[in-house]
This record gives sequence, C-alpha cells and structure tokens, in this order.
Amino acid sequence: MIPAAFEYKRPMSLEEAIRYLAERGSDARVLAGGQSLIPAMRYRLAQPAVLVDINQLPNLRYMQQEGGMLTMGALVRDTDVEFDKNIQSRYHLISDVSRVVADPIVRYRGTVVGSLCHNDPSGDWPAAALAARAQLVIQGSRGSRVESIDDFIVDSFTTSVGEGELVVEVQFPIPSARTSGAYEKIERKVGDFATAAAAIQIELTEAGMIKDVGVAVTAVAQKPLRVAEAENILRGEKPTLDLIRAAAAEAAKIADPNPDARGSAAYKKDMARVLVGRGLIKTLGRLGVVVA
Ligand SMILES: Cc1cc2nc3c(=O)[nH]c(=O)nc-3n(C[C@H](O)[C@H](O)[C@H](O)COP(=O)(O)OP(=O)(O)OC[C@H]3O[C@@H](n4cnc5c(N)ncnc54)[C@H](O)[C@@H]3O)c2cc1C
Repeated sequence: MIPAAFEYKRPMSLEEAIRYLAERGSDARVLAGGQSLIPAMRYRLAQPAVLVDINQLPNLRYMQQEGGMLTMGALVRDTDVEFDKNIQSRYHLISDVSRVVADPIVRYRGTVVGSLCHNDPSGDWPAAALAARAQLVIQGSRGSRVESIDDFIVDSFTTSVGEGELVVEVQFPIPSARTSGAYEKIERKVGDFATAAAAIQIELTEAGMIKDVGVAVTAVAQKPLRVAEAENILRGEKPTLDLIRAAAAEAAKIADPNPDARGSAAYKKDMARVLVGRGLIKTLGRLGVVVA
C-alpha cells in the first residue's frame, strides 16, 4: 500500500522543527530514519497529516563523552554506534545491541533515538537503555527537560514525549573500568525482531561484589521491562550461580508475553529467564569473573 496523503516539512533548525510540531500538535510526527514510521504509514497504521523531517537539522549527529555521560544526538544512526571504536571497547552492552538490531540496511538509516521514541514492545534499544540507566533530553517550545528512561517508557508504542516536543539526545552514564554488559537476543533469522531478549549491565566493587546492576527484557510484555527484583537480588552480593539462577527466575515471573509465530507464551517466558541468566554470566565473564 502507499501512505495516505501528508504534508512534508523539512526544517533547517531545531526552532523551526519545534514550531511546526507545536503548530500541528497531534497531527504532526517527527521523521528520523523512517524505518518504523514509513512502514507504519504504508500499512496505514499511522496516518500523520504532517511529517516533520529532522534529517537536515544541524549538529544532531554526534556522540561525545562529557559530564559523566555518553551523549548521542537524535540523528546518530545504528551503524554510527556499531562501528565506533570507543563504543566497541568501553560500552559492551551498547556495542552488542548495535550489531543485532534489524539488518545492516535498516541500521544504516535507523536512529537510536528514533527507536527509543518508537518504543516497540520488542525493540532492542529500549531494553538496553533500561539496563544502562539512560536518560533523554526532550525539547519543546517552553525549553528542555531530562527524563529517565523508566519515566520515558510509558506503554506499548507510547512515551512521555508530548505534543510539540522532540527528543534531541539520549545520554548513557559512562561505565567505570569495572563495568561491563551484554545483550542476549534470540531471533528466528538475522534481521528479525526478538523472540525474546535480555539486556544486562553490571558494575563490580574492587572486592568483586556487585555494586550496581541493570537487568531488562524485551519482546516478553506490553513494553520493554526493567526486572527490578532481579536487580535487588544481585545488588550488593558476591556473584554465584545460585544467585544468578534466582535473579533470572524473576524475569520469567514478570514476563507476560503474547503467543505468536515466534513462540508460545510459556516458551517466551522461559526464554526471558534463560537469556537473563546467559547475559549475567557473559557480563561477569567479560569482567574476568567465572561464576560457580
Ligand atoms: C525490516 C525491519 C527490521 C527491523 N528489526 C528490528 C529489530 O530487530 N529490533 C528493533 O529494535 N527494531 C527493528 N526495526 C525497527 C527499527 O530499527 C527502528 O524502529 C527504527 O530504526 C526507528 O528509528 P528511526 O530513526 O527509523 O525512526 P522513525 O521511523 O523515523 O520514527 C519512529 C517513531 O519515533 C518518532 N521519532 C523519531 N525520532 C524522534 C525524535 N527525535 N523525537 C521524537 N520522536 C521521534 C517518530 O515520529 C515515529 O513515531 C526494524 C525495522 C525494519 C524496517
């Protein structure tokens, strides 16, 4: 199908983009990489009256480390992340994710921020952002605000971005030398959305105890989920196999998946457990810890 008719705006400044969005309210949608919005329009699942294409906005395709944060502008593509040497060496969770989102063609256009804004219940970036405790900078005509990923993710395909607003950047805390992470995803074939996936980030103390931990799952509920009980079980403890088993079991408890062509609800629930366990073991391995 071809999309319903729409107006197309191509602002050259952030102010102009926000003005269009504010003027047209719920009729307007931001167009970033178009990898989710355009298919949705073609299937007539979305029929925005106005598209505000942000691809010409200056200075939104950057990645920089400042103030303890890695910041990524709204036009950073998945491939920018995938091939960045600093990401590959320091940001293990983010690097893992950047290699398994969709396929190379989609990753060449799709943006990290666009994926977060789309907030697909099976999206890879929202789970990673939860585990890494990311935050987003949202800009509107009355100024900007910073929102934690937990507050940003509201429901399936729904975020806290209001009418007349857009996200200008996502910020990830810079990991310490004793921090690592991993992303475990099962998919039917390369390029598919997850059947289930788990995002993990762990920071150890000098003595090898778990100082902080992020655990999130995707494709197993109405929205990507933080597994807070797993984090509570792990935080402050010495990593052991029993502890990992107990934490991973929490993922199955809160998973509430829909059965579909990718698997039954019972299978996906169990995969949430398995993938959290695998992700924890892989992350600890990357930190030089072999659990027994
Ligand atoms: C074949 C195919 C396979 C895919 N497989 C996967 C997969 O395995 N895993 C996965 O996670 N995703 C997958 N995707 C989806 C895709 O990776 C992302 O959803 C996509 O990259 C979203 O980013 P975008 O820049 O293309 O956003 P767009 O499609 O341009 O926009 C998506 C939504 O976010 C809004 N938006 C975008 N940017 C902003 C902003 N800065 N501020 C406010 N709102 C904004 C738009 O208005 C729209 O509602 C797949 C897509 C395709 C076509």
